[in-house]
Amino acid sequence: MPREFSILALLLFSLSVFLLGPKSMTSHPAQTDISAKARQLHFSSIVIDTHTDTTQRFIDGDFDLAPRNEKGSVDIPRMKEGGLDAVFFAVWMPSKVRGPIAVERALKQIEAVHAQVNRHSNDLVFATTADQIRAARAKKKIAVLLAVEGGHMINSDLAVLREFAGKGVRYMTLTHSGNCEWADSSTDKPIHNGLSPFGKQVIAEMNRLGMMVDVSHVSDKTFHDVLAASKAPIIASHSNCRALCDHPRNMSDDMIRELAAKGGIIQINFHVGFLSQKFRNAERADPKINQAIGIEVQKRCGNKEGCQLIEGDRITREFVEAGKLPRVDWTEIIDHIDHAIKIAGINHVGIGSDFDGANMPFGMEDASMLRKITDALLQKGYTEGDVKKILGENTLRLMAEVERTGKQLCGESK
Ligand SMILES: [Zn+2]
Repeated sequence: MPREFSILALLLFSLSVFLLGPKSMTSHPAQTDISAKARQLHFSSIVIDTHTDTTQRFIDGDFDLAPRNEKGSVDIPRMKEGGLDAVFFAVWMPSKVRGPIAVERALKQIEAVHAQVNRHSNDLVFATTADQIRAARAKKKIAVLLAVEGGHMINSDLAVLREFAGKGVRYMTLTHSGNCEWADSSTDKPIHNGLSPFGKQVIAEMNRLGMMVDVSHVSDKTFHDVLAASKAPIIASHSNCRALCDHPRNMSDDMIRELAAKGGIIQINFHVGFLSQKFRNAERADPKINQAIGIEVQKRCGNKEGCQLIEGDRITREFVEAGKLPRVDWTEIIDHIDHAIKIAGINHVGIGSDFDGANMPFGMEDASMLRKITDALLQKGYTEGDVKKILGENTLRLMAEVERTGKQLCGESK
């Protein structure tokens, strides 16, 4: 900054403090704090995020959860600042990775999550049940849970699914952005007409294992087939409302209603391309923008997938700052939560950020900012009990129901 300019800026700053008082100088969104009531409520609630992609960073080899990291959205200090009590780390790889290699890579990621928990056992504890999340919270530790994002990783083998469950995986997203061998994705050409006969066996086995069935990413037909097949309520671990942003990956009001009618929950995703119609339109209007982002990601990261996810978010933000893409503010998360509650009811909505795997809106850059959601929901008129449900109690209720169904089914099959 040129010297003259900085002196001028200092003068203007002093003048504005004199005229407006020091309080107005702290109104930058990143510095705005929440009300005392919101703080008290947030930090006395159990806060659960059902979807983050931080796992990819563990296997890049140079990432650790303990220090406050300059990049990305999730680490222990920022989870603590955001009052996050339980986090699901997703095991992920592109849908095109198939066969024994997919299984091998998934197992490696599962071990990487366990290794982080073991390394930081003062702050973290591995959990697989709703009760274990409550127990972790009582010990002031963050519960870490495992998810598998994409049915292609079981290599069409129920024994692999059982192995994943044995290692603590608590939900499986049936597909990622491409179809798997037995279920159609919302962003691929349908080939199974929803869920194949083997797909139905997968659902039955997940029900028996007490593993949540996740319908984020799946096609509408797959969703309906799963809803009909599953004996336990289902989760959309990181999905948004199509009524607010018309993306095939988001859920229509009818789907949200049907999900809730069977006891399920929709966990609202923070990704700008799923939150904002304006952003989606801009992306679609000029495909060269995404191509340019892709090229820059490749330049910065090569084939390191964890790096690609983090840099993709940073580069998208640079494009927004350069005026090439519209700015999306974090308050649009609240719009989706609010809409989903109007459709599904207060007992069927929660949070699944997609941190470290998607493009975050301004003001919700990392896990430390989760507390702002509590403040905004109170301001919108939600009661303290309502807010607790959204933050985590709905997820705990669903987990307990799925666990109960699993035990019942195991009892029946004995
Ligand atoms: Zn996803």
